[in-house]
Amino acid sequence: MKCEELLSILNEYVDGTADAAICHEFEQHMAGCNPCQVVVDNVRKTIQLYKGGQPYELPVAFRERLHGLLRQRWEATHPAPKK
Ligand SMILES: [Zn+2]
Repeated sequence: MKCEELLSILNEYVDGTADAAICHEFEQHMAGCNPCQVVVDNVRKTIQLYKGGQPYELPVAFRERLHGLLRQRWEATHPAPKK
């Protein structure tokens, strides 16, 4: 799995809707990729803050914001390759 692929399934992963094989690849990639660890860690913290002990369900607006935030963080930690 590449960083781009990890980002593209991140929503499903945090929602718990990604299948087990995908989760496994996700975790394998994360184990060896510090920038992705940082991004995923941030997402987890954000979700925990939001959850605050309530049932785990993210409203669409929140997810959109989260996705935007993620992309920013991801871009900051993964500079685009020079063309
Ligand atoms: Zn990565």
